[in-house]
Amino acid sequence: PVLQRHGADASRLLQILRDVQDTLHFIPPEAVTCISSHLGIPRDSVEGVAGFYSFLSLQPAGEYRVLFSDNITDNMLGNRELMQYFCNKLWVEQGRVSEDNLVSVDTTSCTGMCDQGPAALVNGWALTNLDQNRLDLIAELIRSRKPVADWPPMLFEVVDNIRRKDTLLGDAFESGSAIRATLTRGTRETLAEVDKANLRGRGGAGFKTASKWTFCHAAVAEEEGSVICDIGGNPERFIVCNADEGEPGTFKDRVLLTSYADLVFEGMTIGARVVGASKGFLYLRGEYRYLLEPLEAVLKRRREAGLLGDNILGEAGFSFDIEIHLGAGAYICGEESALIESLEGKRGRPRNRPPFPVTHGYKGRPTVVDNVETFAAAAKIGLHGGEWFAAQGTPQSTGTKLLSISGDVSRPGIYEYPFGVTVEQILRDCGGDDAHAVQISGPSGTLVSWQEFGRRIAFEDLPTAGAFMVFHRKREMFAAAHNFTHFFAHESCGFCTPCRVGTELQKKIMDKIAGGHGTPADLEELKHLGGILGSMSHCGLGHSAANPVLDTLKKFPGTFERKLKALAFEPAFDLDGALETARKITGRDDEWAHL
Ligand code: SF4
Repeated sequence: PVLQRHGADASRLLQILRDVQDTLHFIPPEAVTCISSHLGIPRDSVEGVAGFYSFLSLQPAGEYRVLFSDNITDNMLGNRELMQYFCNKLWVEQGRVSEDNLVSVDTTSCTGMCDQGPAALVNGWALTNLDQNRLDLIAELIRSRKPVADWPPMLFEVVDNIRRKDTLLGDAFESGSAIRATLTRGTRETLAEVDKANLRGRGGAGFKTASKWTFCHAAVAEEEGSVICDIGGNPERFIVCNADEGEPGTFKDRVLLTSYADLVFEGMTIGARVVGASKGFLYLRGEYRYLLEPLEAVLKRRREAGLLGDNILGEAGFSFDIEIHLGAGAYICGEESALIESLEGKRGRPRNRPPFPVTHGYKGRPTVVDNVETFAAAAKIGLHGGEWFAAQGTPQSTGTKLLSISGDVSRPGIYEYPFGVTVEQILRDCGGDDAHAVQISGPSGTLVSWQEFGRRIAFEDLPTAGAFMVFHRKREMFAAAHNFTHFFAHESCGFCTPCRVGTELQKKIMDKIAGGHGTPADLEELKHLGGILGSMSHCGLGHSAANPVLDTLKKFPGTFERKLKALAFEPAFDLDGALETARKITGRDDEWAHL
């Protein structure tokens, strides 16, 4: 039935694998063979894709797979201790499957619930606000083999936590109003309004949206030397909404898709009208699996209301529809070219650029990839015009920005501010008393120390995709940098050597320092590695993978120095530690089993 549902299109491979994983809890060799012959692609390719995404498993992973979110904010809320408590309750070792193949427990990268952590996923479904009582209940449900669909709903409750609204979230929005305004105004005029608004991509890079849409509209797509055109002589184009918000500490798209999905889909439809696309995709991160059915329901309602499908709102020839594509746990798919690869059913590996997706995107056709918040803002511009939008913010950063605030604050959640707001003001509003650092825009962003709290959220000062993680002065910032090095080593796609090896070495050195074996030479090595990662990696993940370490070394050198106990050089490779597995297997822990 899974294969029948998806047809024989190879670009459905990832969605097929997701369905098999959901049904069988892993992807057995027989399923690989079956998928390979159904789609007409080699077994190796199927296994290659299945092996790339962390939510897919080629080995049995237990009937219940519990993955604890392991962002630094989860650590600060005690997720590691809770995970150990849970493992003890279920008699299972972290990273292993229980002997009866019932359950496995491990960590995963941030699941986007930092405002209601500690969080986890069970068979892909988000669990929030974990404590010992909830884990007792979950352990009981697992032992009694109760299907996850029948678990108490309160375990899966996710709240929006909107703490401050401005022009994006503040006014009520009538479905279809922005499309109507666009049709009345005209396509060129609407593009001119987006240009006048100076809307810039909310994913962090800040590329001007009107320019992206213009390039896509003007592009001529080529494939193997021939131009692909539809009957009207125009190349086929696509609109893609990037809802793969995997940057640790970010959860604003979760809230937009939960309570403002109409705004997002309306923005995509306006974008489609401007560039001439008839097909759109929402790439939804796997961690937000629980949003799939509610979002499908919104799409259905919009089709019934004539806001999607053929001849939208009676406009002859204006046809556009949206398909939701689920990710499967790969941070790199937030990079737009990797996302397109993933949409095509492949591993999410960043492409060489140029050419850029606006000319050679999905299936080689011109494609606009924009962030969820960007499309929501575009809908508001479609409705109210560019001048209205540009009246807020700063000249280079117009409009407002959604921030996902977590960490040491008394009021975590979503805050919408006009661009230009200071870090100090935000800390006052969210209850970040006695903060001494804020990690802006996640691990790949910027660490701001207390001396810099006068700085502003804006493309010209502190650009951000939205994460705002706050650290109290009692926190050792080494722990945050250490956590982030593990994140990057885990999420490196392995395509290029500087990043694949560099992130792993960086993690090992940080482990060594954390273990009390660091020397000043290790700090020099970290700086050296940072230079290599920043200059020689293939994509943005590698370029920014050393940011947290370099920022922390610069702004909080003491947090490293306090850990440097050894004065003489020690090798990064811990030979005694490497023998731990052998000790466990042989059951020995005597003096002679150590070096
Ligand atoms: Fe992959 Fe890292 Fe290279 Fe990017 S920099 S392509 S994530 S290995």
